[in-house]
This record gives sequence, structure tokens and C-alpha cells, in this order.
Amino acid sequence: MIFRTMISDILSTGLRRISPCALAGCLALACQTAPDWAGRAQTESESATHLLVTGGTVVTMDDEGTVIPDGAVAIEDGRITAVGPRAELQPAHAEAYQVSADGGVIMPGLINAHTHVPMVLFRGLADDLELMDWLENHIFPAEAEHVDEEFVRVGTRLACLEMLRGGITTFVDGYYFEDAIAEEVEACGMRAVLGSTLIDFPAPDNETWEEAIAYARAFIEKWRGHSTITAALGPHSSYTVSAEHLVEAHAIATALDVPLLIHLAEDRGEIERVTQATGMTSVDYLESLGILDQRVLAAHMVFPSPSEIELLAHRDVGVAHCPQSNMKIAAGVAPVAAMIEAGVAVGLGTDGAASNNDLNLWEEIDTAAKLAKVTTGDPTVLDARQAIAMATIEGARAIGMAADIGSLEVGKRADLIVVSADGFHQQPQPAALNPYSLLAYATKASDVRHVIVEGRLVVENGRVLTLDADTVLEEATAIRRRITDGSSH
Ligand SMILES: [Zn+2]
Repeated sequence: MIFRTMISDILSTGLRRISPCALAGCLALACQTAPDWAGRAQTESESATHLLVTGGTVVTMDDEGTVIPDGAVAIEDGRITAVGPRAELQPAHAEAYQVSADGGVIMPGLINAHTHVPMVLFRGLADDLELMDWLENHIFPAEAEHVDEEFVRVGTRLACLEMLRGGITTFVDGYYFEDAIAEEVEACGMRAVLGSTLIDFPAPDNETWEEAIAYARAFIEKWRGHSTITAALGPHSSYTVSAEHLVEAHAIATALDVPLLIHLAEDRGEIERVTQATGMTSVDYLESLGILDQRVLAAHMVFPSPSEIELLAHRDVGVAHCPQSNMKIAAGVAPVAAMIEAGVAVGLGTDGAASNNDLNLWEEIDTAAKLAKVTTGDPTVLDARQAIAMATIEGARAIGMAADIGSLEVGKRADLIVVSADGFHQQPQPAALNPYSLLAYATKASDVRHVIVEGRLVVENGRVLTLDADTVLEEATAIRRRITDGSSH
């Protein structure tokens, strides 16, 4: 009933279209148990604290664009301690655990700047539909019937398997019962910014705004100071949260010094509704409330006006560009090249898998670059290096973590991946020739070989070490069977 009430409320207020991200505001989840797999013994490689990643082209993504053929990266206690030629680093780190790049590319881990991870369990449930048909007749009924504590934990594990295997080391999430997601993410060894969703509707985890705020405050305090989990506030959007509540959420985010995640300027329906109600477009509306600043990460940003782009740059607001999700619902194309030109930090996101339908950031890199060229009529915009930057250092900038992650530089946290360069689809160029072209236009998620997060090897030779894939797939299949059978549990 809650779900029906919510969508009726949304419709009665005149919103003609609603984004797939609105789904995140409609899911109920809970969490109590820790995964069995988390308690197992670590492998030798996984527990090593001194590693040398060696024998590949190091693409640092630093400001100078440093690329080191036949290079190496040394890691000690979670931090990068040296980046340079293999011949120099190998003798000094002979006792380190050696991770071979085998002539591939050593680069920063990818950053997925916007997603809703448990929705992987709805992957492919309903495609190629008008949005309201998709929501009302397919997704909402499935959510009301099937989403619970088990759902969110299993969904997070499956999503982390997919993301780790594809070279994503950090993701930004927005959902309910985010504390359960945080526990799962910690167990699988990923880094994440996790937004506790706030919305002006009774939600299954919290019936009232006050309850949702109390939950979020406790969530934030629980994870404060954690090495890989950053708790955040996620007021859903400018059309599902009142002005008063948006201002309150921002004040709390400021007082607690946490990021504020919001969907903004995502589709025409949102712009029309906000303009009808306030006389302003979405970005100007939030500016009038005084809540645009460097702690804000705005997802989608398909429809900023030229003056709003200037404002975003001036206020240092980060943007998460989700090209494939925007394309699938025919929302439009974000003016990425213009935003970057204005100095806005733009990262890349997959959005949830119910609407995309995967968590593959390599596809978003490729799509973002080509979409920018098609829509501007200029093949020189958003080149391969810029597209890779959006998935690494610019994504880190967008989420306010550029001092710690996003590039391979001494002192930064050791989040890096090794990508094979020997696939037929990548030949015949040596990786060092033009690594950005190789990575942006030819590399696939399946080419990722090793993944290190916070100095810990979590994927080795394509195998995720921190999750029991067979068990996760069994659990996910069981839940999916219940969904397709239409049975409750
Ligand atoms: Zn979203």
C-alpha cells in the first residue's frame, strides 16, 4: 500500500514522468546478519600489506598525464609509496608480494559515481517500456512483494561481485537501510559513499521524515572515520522532498560534515514540475534554498541551462553523468562537454541495474565519449583521456575524494587495477602507445585482471577473493525465482 500511495501522490502532484532513480525511494530493506563468507581465512595474497604491482604500463591519471611504460607501483599499509619504472622499484621491493601486470595497464580503480546496488536483482525484469508502465505495472509490485532484508544484502553482494570483477573500486549508492549495504561493502573490501535516502513519503524503513533523519544520523555516526565507508545523506530529489526538508537535510549534512547526494535536472518532467511550483528550474531552485556547495553530488544533470552550468562550477557542485540510463528512458543527453569546459567536476555512473541494465563502467566511458561527439557534432570533444578521467580522477573530484583516490600518486590510498591488453579486440597496439585510446574504446570489463582496494588484493587473476560467487549466485537466483514465480516468501 505504501508504494501505491507514493506513486499516487507523485502523480496527483502533476509529475508526468518519473526517473528510474525514484525507485530508490520506494524500496524497503532491513539488515541484521553478517555474511558467512566474511569470517573465512584470508588468502596469502589477500592479507599481504606490502605489494608491488609490476610489469605494465602505469597510467597514473595525475595532473601531468604521467604514463610509465614497463612501470610499477609499490603499496604499503594501504597507501601508494612509490610509482616509477620497474627497474627502479623492483630491487627496493623484492620482499613485497608481487602482482604481475603481464604487459597490461596499471591504472586507478574506477569510480561509479551513481547507483542503487540492490536493484541488480530486478535486472531485466521489464525493459523497453514507457516509464510509468514500467514502474506501476512491473517494478513497484515486485518491490512491494519481494524487497526485504535478505533482498538488499544479496543484491549488494551480487552488485559488488559485478563491480569488483569489472574494476570498480569505489561506488556511490543511494538506497534505504543503507547500513546493511555498508556492512556488505565492508565485508567485500570495496570503498563506497553510501547515502541514506530521505524522501517525503512513508518509506518501508522509516515511516516519517523524523524517523529517517534519526536513522541517517545514527548511520553516519556508526561509520564515522571508517577507512573505506563514507556515510552520506541522500535527499532523493527536488520534487520528492520539500523545500523545508531540503534545507534541513543540507544543514545536517553540513553539521555532520558528510556528502549530500541528490538526483537533479534528470528529466523534463522534473523541470516542468519544479518550474510550475517555484518559477525556477531545478538548479536555480536549489540555489535559492542556499544548499548548493562542494558537498553536493548531483546525479544526471541532463538539463542545466548555460547559466546553471556556470553556477554549478562556481558552487563546486559535483555531477554524476549516467549516459546509458539517460539513453534507455530517452531522457536526453547531459551537456557534459560544456560542464567540463566550465570547470564542473563530472564523474560517471551506471545508475541502478533495473534501468541500465548492468554496472559496467567501461561501457559508460565509451558511451559518454561518443554521445558527447554525436550531440555536439564535434568528434574532438570529450577525448579518450577525458573519458577515462571521468571514471577516475574527475569522479574522485566530483565526490570530494580527489586527495585520496582517483590517481596513482605517492601518499594516496592504494585503489588500483590491472587491465590485460592482450585480447584480440585490443591488438595490435602495445599498451604504451596510446593507453587512453586502448582503455576508452577497446577495453571490456572482462579484461580486468587484478583489483586492489585500500592496499588489499580483492580480485586476483579475475577471481573475486572476498565473496563466495557460487553462493551469491545461488541466493540471487532463489530470490529472482520468487520474483518471476510471483510468489511471496
Ligand atoms: Zn538514481
